Amino acid sequence: MSDNRIFQLARISARGVVQGVGFRPFVYGLARQHGLNGWVCNTSEDVKIEVEGDRKTLDLFISDLEHKAPPLARIENISVSFDAPAGYKGFEIRHSVATPGKYQLVSPDIATCQPCLDDIFTSGNRRFHYPFTNCTNCGPRFTIIKDIPYDRPLTTMSVFKMCPDCQREYEDPLDRRFHAQPNACPVCGPQLQLTDNLGKTVDYDDIIEKTASLLKEERIIAIKGLGGFLLACNAENAGPVMLLRQRKRRPSKPFAVMVKDIEEARKHCEINEVEEKLLKSPQSPIVLLKWKPGSTICKEVGPGLKYIGVMLPYTPIHHLIMKAAGLPLVMTSGNVSEEPIAGENSEALRRLGAIADYFLLHNRDIYSTYDDSVAIVANGIPQLVRRARGYAPYPIHLTYSSPQILACGAEEKNTFCLTRDNHAFVSQHIGDMENLETMEHYERTIELYKQLFRIEPEIIAYDMHPEYLPTKYALEQAEKTGIRSIPVQHHHAHIVSCMADNGFEGPVIGLAFDGTGFGTDGKIWGGEFMVADYKSFKRVGQLEYLPLPGGSAAIKKPYRIALGYILALLGENALDSRLGFLSKIDRVELDLVRKQVESNLNSPLTSSMGRLFDAVSAMAGIRSTIDYEAQAAIEMEMKSYESADEQGSYPFTLTGDDSYHIILLHDLISAVLNDLLRGCPQSTVGMRFHNTIAAMAADISLKIRGSTGLNTVALSGGCFQNRLLLTSVVNRLESGGFKVLKHRQVPCNDGGISLGQAVIAGAAT
Ligand code: ZN
Ligand code: ZN
Ligand code: FE
Repeated sequence: MSDNRIFQLARISARGVVQGVGFRPFVYGLARQHGLNGWVCNTSEDVKIEVEGDRKTLDLFISDLEHKAPPLARIENISVSFDAPAGYKGFEIRHSVATPGKYQLVSPDIATCQPCLDDIFTSGNRRFHYPFTNCTNCGPRFTIIKDIPYDRPLTTMSVFKMCPDCQREYEDPLDRRFHAQPNACPVCGPQLQLTDNLGKTVDYDDIIEKTASLLKEERIIAIKGLGGFLLACNAENAGPVMLLRQRKRRPSKPFAVMVKDIEEARKHCEINEVEEKLLKSPQSPIVLLKWKPGSTICKEVGPGLKYIGVMLPYTPIHHLIMKAAGLPLVMTSGNVSEEPIAGENSEALRRLGAIADYFLLHNRDIYSTYDDSVAIVANGIPQLVRRARGYAPYPIHLTYSSPQILACGAEEKNTFCLTRDNHAFVSQHIGDMENLETMEHYERTIELYKQLFRIEPEIIAYDMHPEYLPTKYALEQAEKTGIRSIPVQHHHAHIVSCMADNGFEGPVIGLAFDGTGFGTDGKIWGGEFMVADYKSFKRVGQLEYLPLPGGSAAIKKPYRIALGYILALLGENALDSRLGFLSKIDRVELDLVRKQVESNLNSPLTSSMGRLFDAVSAMAGIRSTIDYEAQAAIEMEMKSYESADEQGSYPFTLTGDDSYHIILLHDLISAVLNDLLRGCPQSTVGMRFHNTIAAMAADISLKIRGSTGLNTVALSGGCFQNRLLLTSVVNRLESGGFKVLKHRQVPCNDGGISLGQAVIAGAAT
């Protein structure tokens, strides 16, 4: 008798996202299919399976476990040991077991699947038009979980007792809703409620129809979704869109739009294959798409922009409303300005009562809030620029086993990162740390992640900027707990974030182009070239230092930066009165800036690439003051797409020696001004400027390759959200034979900083 026939017991442990994704029913079905007896069980660490049979069947079973797993399962590791059989009769699903200190991965929330949509839109189905329909393949996960293991009593669904029909599905291993923890139906599950902005219930026959008709009547409605409230209004009508802008105190920052399906999306945008796949994915992010000139979505949704953020419905509520309204709808985070998204009913009524006319509420609590994720496709590769719903809290995989670290992140677009083993749990987008609400949300979410993934940090990493709130938080925590704290330079964190995003350990040539980061010399960096690995970095190139008149206040007034740069580089005589942008600046302000530049008073030095974009945008008369971050640069990018000249560029000068390159901007700025004085269109100036920056990137990378032999370039920093810049830098570098690392899973902006900090701190131990 061959070994294959020996009857054995296989003890299997499967790790990864294996809970809440239909994994146990899948195991059950598989065991039955192979005629194996035993059991399967969730623990706080893994899914454990014991099956017994002959070795050949067991091997087949194990192979199927890996290769036929349900679509949302992400198996990271399967370990098996064999033993003598225990004599199981039949196959069963056992109750979950919590093990202290152990953890497992938690699935993000998942967009409604097709079979659930069929249930919702089939009349006669017991879930016909039921807005909380879900199954093991879709629905809420992370946002309703209070702790692991993922079982109904540990979710916000615990207050709903399943009716006999739901209970039957829940217990039937062959049902799509077997152990679907949020399982519900109109008889036993959560219900919608429509109220006015004081919380008073509104009369209606059909709540969805009523909501849809209010939207058609140009009302603004706060809709409670998966990760929090979204504010919705008719996207084809400037009236409600402008009203929403005014009430939300958001004058021009673009809004995202939800459309009912991909065909509708095509009417408004150009969509390539990769973008379509991303839109329709279970993560269902907002995708920034090329906006068609003939689109009926009004321009107030994204003033001055050629791209628009579009998403498809991802919950039954959205599907029902989109169908009933038959309109593209603005769907923007339910918050005021930069506060975190509202999650609870009473909180929403309090915070959003002055913005929304009506509230579409429900009684399924959101335990953890998160925003919609935002992605772009550049060079055919999807890239997250805001990582939240659908992605977090799934970890980024590290190439090594990390100690337990808390990396506190940056000030803007904050995320934090907790590590253990080969997992980097980068939090969902937390936001700009500029108010108490966001800080509270930050601290609460850190505690949640620590608890869910059983992490007690031994090290705390933070940005060197002394004024960042997360830095202050880190130092406080370190003092309180006595654990080791490690400061990390901002742009080193950017570059290492990009490396870790690509599983590359380096060393690399790093190009970190962003707005602001605290340098090791106390100056504001942002146009940086470095040689870096996880352990350390060496700055080998930079934009020359120029004054930022008025300090960080100048960031909102790009014309001041333009003035400062012109005065510092070219002097008073370059302020030719024929330059259009000067006409909007009064004499008092001009004198003030002049004094600041001359005396260096309140005029910190910066090598920022972001500020250079701002300055040129203002000089060209494209944007002189901004309402949202990077607006001047974004609008210049948009203008540049209209340029008739695609190849032209401006001169720049390099100084320094082989080991350090400083880019002097005198020639560049002087050429920009000459073009403008000659009446050159803004679009051409913009395009030439973009080409110039790409040429700088390529030239200096070549020089660094010459002196170091390195051939891999990592691109990071918020400036690389600019597609024109990114594409042109990547093309030049690739045609120069470089291997180019771009961000994919975490944002190139400061949302990716925490990952870089965590990896650098891990390498320092
Ligand atoms: Zn489903
Ligand atoms: Zn039910
Ligand atoms: Fe940055």
